[in-house]
Amino acid sequence: MPDIMKMGKNPNYLGSWDLDDLPNREVTLTISRIVDEEVVTNGKTEVCTACYWQEAAYKPMILNVTNKKTLCKLYKTKATEKLAGRAVTIGIDRVKAFGDIHDALRIRPRIPKPQSASLPKCAQCGKDIHAAGNMTPDQVAAYTAKKYGQSLCGECATAAARGA
Ligand SMILES: [Zn+2]
Repeated sequence: MPDIMKMGKNPNYLGSWDLDDLPNREVTLTISRIVDEEVVTNGKTEVCTACYWQEAAYKPMILNVTNKKTLCKLYKTKATEKLAGRAVTIGIDRVKAFGDIHDALRIRPRIPKPQSASLPKCAQCGKDIHAAGNMTPDQVAAYTAKKYGQSLCGECATAAARGA
């Protein structure tokens, strides 16, 4: 059954309703490309800037001026090719417009922490492998794989070293 609040909105692009089921109504996504394209909403064609994500499960987001400014400030560049591969957290603000209050998608003015999903996993305990010393998580995974025959987290590597 169509939701009356979603009717008349463009279903091809990310909307605040797409975040309704997420914790804090926020999501962190990685930019794949930013392009201008023709968007048809309620029969009207407009050229909009759309931001596509590496996470294919999420629809592209139309960037308004506010979000463009946040994005440029966040990563100190206006070049779209430099923004590709960058992560942003998108949340919802209540915005007053035309005497009414609307939910608006907003890029948060903070650089998101790397998501744990992207960290390599320990072959022993299954936990995330974190950076250690001056090694990145991937380097720790490679180093322990070479030394112990499998990628290990700090704790399991210590235990393996003790057992050896
Ligand atoms: Zn472990």
